Amino acid sequence: MNEDRITRRGLLKGALAGLAAVPAASLLAREAHAAEALSEEDAAAKSLGYVTDARRVDPKTNPSYKAGQTCANCFQYTGAPGSAEGPCRIFPNKTVKAAGWCKVWVPQQS
Ligand code: SF4
Repeated sequence: MNEDRITRRGLLKGALAGLAAVPAASLLAREAHAAEALSEEDAAAKSLGYVTDARRVDPKTNPSYKAGQTCANCFQYTGAPGSAEGPCRIFPNKTVKAAGWCKVWVPQQS
């Protein structure tokens, strides 16, 4: 009987510890998804000519731009295929639009 009580106590402690861990885990998960969208007004974004829609790239000021280049087909883009936005290695902790573009666009490796 005494062993039963210890086991129940152990179970209760385990359950309480599990309940306490749930909010912490959910906070961490939320932070992982909390990357901010990169603004065109961000100083680093401005310096690299980032636009959220590559159709707005001015070819006069960005002669390296070629039609069809977007973040989605840039080597630096690490978003899931088909996603509307995702992370970029050049702008840590930010997300860029898949349809976007900047001056350091490089083709994806095949
Ligand atoms: S480096 Fe590539 S993915 Fe990142 S903003 Fe520039 S074009 Fe988009």
